[in-house]
Amino acid sequence: MSFDMYCVGVGPQYEGERVRKKQMYLEFGGGKVDKKFELCEVKPPKEVKDGKVTIVGPDIEDMKEGTSNPLGSYLKISGEKLETDLEAVIERRFHDFMNFIQGFLHLNQRYTCWMRLSKKSYEKGLNSFKIIGEILIKLFKAEFSIIEKAEITFYTDEKSVEEPYKHAMDVYEKRDSRMRGMKDEDVDDFYACTLCASFAPKHACAITPNRMSLCGAINWFDARAASKVDPKGPIFQIEKGELKNEKAGEYTGINDMIKNASLGEIDRVFLYSGLENPHTSCGCFEAIAFYIPEVEGYGVVDRNFSGVTVNGLPFSTMANSTGGGNQVSGFNGISIEYMRSPRFFQYDGGWNRFVWLPKQIKERILEYIPEELRDKIATEDDAMDTEALKEFLDKKDHPVKERWEEEEEDEWEDEYAPAETQMPQMQQMQMPQMQQMQMPQGVGNTFMLPMVQLPPVAGGSGGPGFKIILNNVKIHAESVTIKKLKPKKKKKKK
Ligand code: SF4
Repeated sequence: MSFDMYCVGVGPQYEGERVRKKQMYLEFGGGKVDKKFELCEVKPPKEVKDGKVTIVGPDIEDMKEGTSNPLGSYLKISGEKLETDLEAVIERRFHDFMNFIQGFLHLNQRYTCWMRLSKKSYEKGLNSFKIIGEILIKLFKAEFSIIEKAEITFYTDEKSVEEPYKHAMDVYEKRDSRMRGMKDEDVDDFYACTLCASFAPKHACAITPNRMSLCGAINWFDARAASKVDPKGPIFQIEKGELKNEKAGEYTGINDMIKNASLGEIDRVFLYSGLENPHTSCGCFEAIAFYIPEVEGYGVVDRNFSGVTVNGLPFSTMANSTGGGNQVSGFNGISIEYMRSPRFFQYDGGWNRFVWLPKQIKERILEYIPEELRDKIATEDDAMDTEALKEFLDKKDHPVKERWEEEEEDEWEDEYAPAETQMPQMQQMQMPQMQQMQMPQGVGNTFMLPMVQLPPVAGGSGGPGFKIILNNVKIHAESVTIKKLKPKKKKKKK
């Protein structure tokens, strides 16, 4: 397949290419735009005109440079072997195929999609959705040979996007609701997805009935359909293996899969915990569950929430700490659908641990929050800093308070702990820098450094190793360098 006739290059080599704000000609969707979507539906052959690209609203060349615009991308496909189960998986490929276009960036999915066109590619001639549509149709048909006909429509202004957006939201809801009621133990196999590997090489999503993928676009049924069509593709079946810890959702099959995907770096995942061996996060998550150490509870923020959250940080700042394929304790990329799961963070205490949600999310999932907790979980209307949150939770008698009492008891025990439990070496250590450090608010839980062996001090012997446990701290380091200091040579006197 050749793309030589186009003004820009097309291929996986452009995936991962960024279009920063100052390089951007236009933006589509994203946080500044209310309605955006991408949708794929399987239709009878007579309803699909192969190769047709339609633009409803202004085209790229009619748009003002530097603006953010609504965009609905609607792909209709037909083919004898196509099943509706495949729609979600094919639709998810908007992500990589749009990224294949030189100077075109695509992020997220469904109703949170966000695209940018670079000035350079616009100047080269990428000035119409006709070009983008034609390229996409070619890529979809090449990747999925079972697509016999494909047609695409772009809705490019507020008015034209309105109705198809509503339709897309209905379709997403129908897909997601099929999964509800099914449990992890009801199925023999799970699935994994590595579609986001170009942005987060160590990451792979484990997809189970009780834990939908982070992007919220691929559920267990979708993954099963995709792996049937292309078993060696980016979405594949994994054996469940042995259930090692039911409450945590630890399966040996998932551990093996993540070990493989992370090249041995990560070897344990608890599906239902955000603090202990949490699932890794790429960058496509719909929302972030963030730990709030001041109240021992969790908050959630989604992409559509603008401004700062109760811990003083906006979504974008937390997204930087969460994504990249890392296993970050206390910062977890999640889908909104996972909040409807009966296993939602069950290892950490489930909904009894959730203390803050954006109002819009709370309304959306209200029926899945246990009734007795509904008015005990704060929103931006109730608390916008951790002090106000603590007061709110105290007044509402939120179950998380039990943990505060435990904490207070622990502090008492620490203070009066018997002498043999103390660590003489640690007591003698002077750590002035630590005492002076200002920790950012609202990050981290407990981070344990590996055992460190102190080098022998002058005239002494190598002492025993020790552990430093930093509570309520998150440390980020691009790299750690340990250098052996060589003693300076004394200059010879002449
Ligand atoms: S977030 Fe997970 S399921 Fe969704 S595309 Fe990325 S890897 Fe696949």
